[in-house]
Amino acid sequence: MEKKLYILSDLPYDYNTLEPYIDEETMKLHHDKHHAAYVNNLNVAIEKFPDLFSTLRLGSGQESVEELIINLNDVPEEIRTAVRNNAGGHINHSLFWQSMAPNSGGEPSGNLAEEINKTFGSFSEFTSKFNDAGVKRFGSGWVWLVLTKDGKLDIVSTPNQDNPIMDGHKPILGNDVWEHAYYLKYKNMRADYLKAWWNVVNWQEVEKRFK
Ligand code: MN
Repeated sequence: MEKKLYILSDLPYDYNTLEPYIDEETMKLHHDKHHAAYVNNLNVAIEKFPDLFSTLRLGSGQESVEELIINLNDVPEEIRTAVRNNAGGHINHSLFWQSMAPNSGGEPSGNLAEEINKTFGSFSEFTSKFNDAGVKRFGSGWVWLVLTKDGKLDIVSTPNQDNPIMDGHKPILGNDVWEHAYYLKYKNMRADYLKAWWNVVNWQEVEKRFK
């Protein structure tokens, strides 16, 4: 096969370092089993079409995974759903791990802070609107802070493993509201997980993405 398979990167920190907000067992399962399965299933799907990358004129780097879901209609129908779910899962989780860090949380600074205040009124109005969108996502999905096509901040929610880039938005920050992200510790209390999660948000990384 001409294309190098996608790979699962290690977490940028230890499994237990987001305690007490996200527990070690959840982090292990979430990264080593769930994210690993998305990467593996994506590789299995694209292996069936060895010419896919040259046909779609995609690069050979890991970043080509985004082009797969942006150009989903050009992906062969036989693997389109698998690519949508698993490439999406790979992208979303890669972004998610980088958006968190031990000893983080707090509030953003600089341009992002200004833009959040301008758009949502205040940081606390922003987080409560974000949490609300996360609670209201029926079933499994994600809640996002995005930069829209018009260059404005907005909060959106996507089902399953869909990513805002499928709608032309740039994701700045995303939280996973699948039950596998919180159920071991928070049980059915998704709202509690959403609130606690702000304690592990890596604003330095999020600000970089915003620039
Ligand atoms: Mn997940």
